[in-house]
Amino acid sequence: MKTLYAAALIGSMSAVALSASAQQAAPQPEDPALKIYRETPTKYSDLVHTKLDVRFDYKKRYMYGKEWVTLKPHFYPTDSLSLDAKGMDLKTIAIVKNGKNVPLKFTYDSLVVKIKLDRTYRNNESYTVYIDYTAKPNEFKAQGSMAITDAKGLYFINPDGTEKDKPTQIWTQGETEGSSVWFPTIDKPNQKTTDEISMTVPAKYVTLSNGRLASQKVNGDGTRTDVWKQELPHSPYLFMMAVGDFKITKDTWRGKEVSYYLEPKYAPYARDIFGFTPEVMEFYSKTLGVDYPWNKYSQIVVRDYVSGAMENTSATLHGDYVQATKRELLDDYFGQGRSTIVHELFHQWFGDYVTAESWSNLTVNESFADFSETLWAEHKYGKDAGDAHIQDDRENYLSQPKLRTNDLVRFHYKDKEDMFDAVTYQKGGSILYMLRNYLGNDAFYKGLSIYLKSNAFKNGEAHQLRLALEEASGRDLTWFFNQWYFGAGHPILGITYKWDEATKTQTVVLTQSQDGNAFILPLAIDVYAGGKKERKQFWMRNKVDSLVFHSDVKPSLVNVDGDKMLLAKKTDNKSLDEFAFQYFNAPLYLDRYEAIKAAAKSQNSQAAARKVIIAALNDKYWELQVDAIKAADLTNDDVRNAAQPILAKLAQLDPNNLVKAAAINALGKLKASGNSNLFKQALNSQSYAVQGAALNALALINPAEAMSLAKSYEKDSNGALKQAVLTTYAVGGSDEQWPFVYSSFKDGQPQTQFNLMRNYADMIGRLKNPANAQQGVTSIAEFGNKYKKYGVGPQIATILTGIKETRTKAGDTSSNAAIDKAVAELNAPAN
Ligand SMILES: [Zn+2]
Repeated sequence: MKTLYAAALIGSMSAVALSASAQQAAPQPEDPALKIYRETPTKYSDLVHTKLDVRFDYKKRYMYGKEWVTLKPHFYPTDSLSLDAKGMDLKTIAIVKNGKNVPLKFTYDSLVVKIKLDRTYRNNESYTVYIDYTAKPNEFKAQGSMAITDAKGLYFINPDGTEKDKPTQIWTQGETEGSSVWFPTIDKPNQKTTDEISMTVPAKYVTLSNGRLASQKVNGDGTRTDVWKQELPHSPYLFMMAVGDFKITKDTWRGKEVSYYLEPKYAPYARDIFGFTPEVMEFYSKTLGVDYPWNKYSQIVVRDYVSGAMENTSATLHGDYVQATKRELLDDYFGQGRSTIVHELFHQWFGDYVTAESWSNLTVNESFADFSETLWAEHKYGKDAGDAHIQDDRENYLSQPKLRTNDLVRFHYKDKEDMFDAVTYQKGGSILYMLRNYLGNDAFYKGLSIYLKSNAFKNGEAHQLRLALEEASGRDLTWFFNQWYFGAGHPILGITYKWDEATKTQTVVLTQSQDGNAFILPLAIDVYAGGKKERKQFWMRNKVDSLVFHSDVKPSLVNVDGDKMLLAKKTDNKSLDEFAFQYFNAPLYLDRYEAIKAAAKSQNSQAAARKVIIAALNDKYWELQVDAIKAADLTNDDVRNAAQPILAKLAQLDPNNLVKAAAINALGKLKASGNSNLFKQALNSQSYAVQGAALNALALINPAEAMSLAKSYEKDSNGALKQAVLTTYAVGGSDEQWPFVYSSFKDGQPQTQFNLMRNYADMIGRLKNPANAQQGVTSIAEFGNKYKKYGVGPQIATILTGIKETRTKAGDTSSNAAIDKAVAELNAPAN
C-alpha cells in the first residue's frame, strides 16, 4: 500500500496549524487502547480455498454473493468456525455434504459469524461451507484513517451515472481488514487461500481480479460472467475486483501478461505511464533471486480511490493521480507516480508472496516496498538519484518528532491503521539501506532470497528476516534488530574535530545525546590528507566515543559516515572550508547536499561558500542543481554576477526540465526586462514546468502581458502551467477571469487547491460581484470541511475570516453570514 498523497500534503499544510495548537494542549492521558498487546491472530482454522459467485445491484449499492469456503482446523480438532463478515445479510449457511447443502446453526453480531459445524473436524480433514449473503458496504459504518480514508471494502463509484464526467466503476480495497465487508472470511494477514471469483456484470464493462481470467460467458440479459482464478494462495486482504469501462493495453514479461487498465481517455498514454513495468519485473526478479511469482501482472487506475495504491496479488490498483499524459510525464523524473508503480510491484514479493504475519510486523511488507523505490532509482537513474530518494525518506521520518517513541515492530498501537506511518515506511526503508551497507550488497540480497524462499506463500516477521540475513552473511544481527526493529528512535549524533599540530594528532569526538541507550554504529570514516583518501572502520558503542589518529599533515577533511548511510539527526561541526572541500572531493550525493546546505548559510560572508553554490549550479545531479539554484542568494552582488550567465544557460539548454524551470524562476525574481525574450522563448517548450515558470517570470515583469498570454493557455494547460495561469489570474485578475479560476479550483486536485489557496483567497477579497465572492467562500469552506480530519480546519477558518474583513471594508457584507457559519464548523473539534 502506498498511502494517500493528499493526506501527506494536507498533513504538511496542517503541520503549522497543529504545532500552534499543540503547545496549548494539555498532555493527553494515555489511551487505554495502547495497553492492549496486539498478538498475532491465533489460527483455529485455516482457509484453504475461497470460491465466490457475485453480482452487483448498482441502485442499492449491494453485492449479492454466494460463497463456498473450504477450511480445515489448524491443529486442534474443532466443531466450530468463526468468520469475519462485516455488515452483511446472511441468508443461508450450510455445510456441503455429497453435493448437498445441509444448513448449519450460526449466530451473527454484524461483524463476526459464529458457525456450529455438523461435527468435530481434525486437521487432516477439510470441509466446505456454503454461504448465501448480501454485502451492503454503504450501510456498514467503517472507520478510516490517515493512510486509508475509508474502510468499507467495496466501492460503487457514480453507480447511478448522475455525476457528470465521472465513469461508473466498482472496485475493492482489502487492506487492512476490509475484504470481509464483501465476503465472509478469516480476514487476517496470516491466512492464505487460493480463490475463484465469478463476477456477473453489465456486458459493456471490463472486469479485473487476481490470477487468470479462466472464462467469459455472455448471458442473454445484457450481462456477462467472468471467472477469475487465483491458483496460488494469498491473504484475504489482497483479494480484489474491479468493474468498469477500462481500456486494456498489454505487454509481456518472460511470456507472462503485463497489462494496464485505464480509462479510455488515458489509454493512449498507457505505455508512457506503465511501460517500464516489465523492465522493473526483470530487475527485481534478478536482484532477489526469485522470479516474479504470479501468473500475470495487471495495474488498474480507478476513480475516488481511498489511498495511494494497493498491491492486490497480481492486480495492483492505483489512484487516478498516477494518470498522466505524455507531456505531463516530461516533467516526471522519479515522481510520485513512478515511485508508486515500483513500490507496489515490489510488494508482489514482500507482502504478497511472503506476508507480514500481523499488522505489528507490517515492516516486512512496507519497509521493503519503500526501500524498493530507492533500489529502482539507483538502478535506473544512478546512485545520486537513489541516495536522494533515501535522504528524502530520512528527512520525512526525522521531521516527525512524535514518531520517535514508535518501535518499528510494534505490539501496542491504538488502531492497526496507525501502523502505516513514517516509521514503518520511511524509517524502515532507511534501516534496510543501512543494513545493506553493513552486510554488503551480495550478502544482503542473498539473505532476502533466503527469506523469500523459506517463507514462500506463508508469513514472515522480523525474526525470520534476521535469521535469513544471518544465514546468508554468517554474522549475528541481534544487536542490529534489537536497536532498529524492536527499539524506537534514532541517534542524535554530534561530531566535533580537533587537530593538534604539535603532535600531528587528529581527534574526532562522537556524541549521542538521545535519551536511553547508545546505538551501536559501525561507521566508515574517510580521512582526506595530503592528497590521499584513507578509510578507517570504527564502531561507536558508547554515548561518547573518540577516535584519535596520527596524520603527517592536517587532514583537509575527516568525513564521518563515508558511505552516508546512517539514519541519525546529525550535527556535524565542520568548518565551511571543510564543507567546501567535501563538495569538490567527496563522491556522494549527500556529501554535496550537506555542503550546499552549509554554503547557503554563509554566502554573504565567505567566498568559499559562494564558490560551492556557483559550482553546484552545474552539479552532475539535477536535484542538487535545483537545490543550488534555490539556495543562490541573488541579492548578493558576487553571487548574482557569477550566477546570472549560468542560470541563463541552464534556463535554455539544460536537458532537465525541472532544472530549466528552476533557473527561469530564479531569473524571474530579478525582474529584469532583459530576460523577457528568454522567458517568451521558454513558453514554447513542451514541458509544462518550463512554460509555467516562464509565465510566472513574465508576470513579474509585465503583468498585463502575462494576463493575455495566460488566456491563450486556458484550454491546453496542465501541471505547472495550469498553476501559473491560475496564479496569474488570481494575482492580477478580476470578475472576468473568475469563472475559470473558480471551476479550476473546484475541480482541482488537492495539490492544485492547496497551491492556489493563498492567491485564490486574495482574489475573492477583490471581486466586484458579490455572487462570485459567495461562490468562492463556499468552495473554500467545502475544501476545509473535506480535509478537516487532517487538522486544516483552523487554518482555513483564518483564511475565510481574512476574506470577510477585506470584503466588509469594501462594503460587501453579503458573504458574512456564510463565513461565520463555516468558521464555526471549521473550528469545532473534528469528530
Ligand atoms: Zn506499500
